[in-house]
Amino acid sequence: QSQELSQVQIDYDAALQALVEDGTRMVCTGRMHTDRICRFESLCYSTEAEEFIYFHSNSSVMLPNLGSRRFQPALLDLSSVEDHNTQYFNFVELPAAALKFMPKPVFVPDIALITNRFNPDNLMHVFHDDLLPIYYTMQQFPDLDLEARLFFMEGWSEGVHFDLYKLLSNKQPLLREQLKTLGRLLCFTKSYVGLSKITTWYQYGFVQPQGPKANILVSGNEIRQFTKFMMEKLNISLEESSSEEYIVVFSRTINRLILNEAELILALAQEFQMKTITVSLEEHSFSDIVRLISNASMLVSMHGAQLVMSLFLPRGATVVELFPYAINPEHYTPYKTLATLPGMDLQYIAWQNTDREDTVTYPDRPWDQGGIAHLDKAEQERIIKSTEVPRHLCCRNPEWLFRAYQDTKVDIPSLIHVIRQTVKSKPGPKKQKWSGSLYPGKVRDAKCQASIQGTSEAKLAVSWQIPWNLKYLKVREVKYEVWIQEQGENTYMPYILSHQNHTFSENIKPFTIYLVWIRCIFNKNLLGPFADVLLCST
Ligand code: UDP
Repeated sequence: QSQELSQVQIDYDAALQALVEDGTRMVCTGRMHTDRICRFESLCYSTEAEEFIYFHSNSSVMLPNLGSRRFQPALLDLSSVEDHNTQYFNFVELPAAALKFMPKPVFVPDIALITNRFNPDNLMHVFHDDLLPIYYTMQQFPDLDLEARLFFMEGWSEGVHFDLYKLLSNKQPLLREQLKTLGRLLCFTKSYVGLSKITTWYQYGFVQPQGPKANILVSGNEIRQFTKFMMEKLNISLEESSSEEYIVVFSRTINRLILNEAELILALAQEFQMKTITVSLEEHSFSDIVRLISNASMLVSMHGAQLVMSLFLPRGATVVELFPYAINPEHYTPYKTLATLPGMDLQYIAWQNTDREDTVTYPDRPWDQGGIAHLDKAEQERIIKSTEVPRHLCCRNPEWLFRAYQDTKVDIPSLIHVIRQTVKSKPGPKKQKWSGSLYPGKVRDAKCQASIQGTSEAKLAVSWQIPWNLKYLKVREVKYEVWIQEQGENTYMPYILSHQNHTFSENIKPFTIYLVWIRCIFNKNLLGPFADVLLCST
């Protein structure tokens, strides 16, 4: 990967003249700072001021032109974490004429994606906040191809997972610190600033206790397209006819330990009649872990960032997440949410240690490893007595950290019991056919015919044609939902029907106008759109 920005491709004088004459051009997508990504021509960066610079000139464009709203609170989020006040992006403005008095600009010829990594030392954050969002931001803008260059502006050093970031493009990603070595004033010929949040599924609890995002927009399909890309880059081929089925125990070796790991492995192997192996980030290469997980039938691990690796599990596999004492699995669900995304096709099981005898606490460690010795005595006692960590905000709640960094002796019978409630026979990838869920289109040619019987009774015969896409699909069950609403009323009578026509007589009055809403339903839960409302007068 080439680290130097080759200046040869650029006619320097022409580029400088264009910058002075044309200035910076910016056009963004998104209506708010939280969903905005901006495309720039000639965005500059002062490595001394550590500020981005927008140069005004005859041809400069700034859309949206927010005026001072650009600072309320920022133009955009530079990381994929929503509205985090350490991750804001903005620029300072200058007239292009000021260039005369500034250091000579160094032009960046590569198309740049300028962004922040959120927490590059934590594997969950690496995948969820950075790698998936970068991958899909690059998919959104065609000129962000494999020749694009990533610029990480958060100010961290490479971090332990830098090799993963390198897979996203053919050029070496550059860090904020490295920009200084390139020059005092950098000008990005063409750049995109910001990161798509469309693939994120979890909020970490900065403003409300952590939990799944309110409006998840990603499915297992997109997650698996991304993992396929990563595996290709890592030179890992999916073994089609995997010879042997096995269970992977993903262990932590520094903290939050499973104290009876050998016993656990033996018990799993015996119960499911499968080879059971252990991996850890400390003892295995990333590629080896991916290779092993991508063919595993079951992944068992303590709650923790390493569990994000379940995104490499094959469809049909089972994730078993172990929670230490006093930690309610329902309150910490990044991996449950991932495993249960539609189309991820993973089974998820949570087990919690409920036995105080089986936990080992570390009150005397530093606060960030769960120590509580720095707290006053009463508070320490309250925490030690408590049987459940109350919901809390990120990130320094001492009671949470104290419980999160306990070691656990796993009660084998209770664990096997909860796994067996979900995994009845053998766990593992079902060689199932693709059962992607496709939704029906609108029903077509809806018609109604009324008939009146006497002065108080009437009938409404309604018919319609199948949705247009149904004739190309194999669908197990096709049903129709019909709502009959008297005009002007805000209630309706709902019906679920199997045929394409029905005569309604219950509660149908003569000389009344009815609105008839019809939609198709595939396989009980795939609800199609309503057709245009049908007006029927009796
Ligand atoms: N980690 C690890 N082994 C350990 C402890 C941590 O591999 O014994 C990794 C963990 O997977 C994560 C990073 O170190 O990528 C930070 O761990 P931490 O406990 O801070 O975060 P958590 O796992 O609770 O998200």
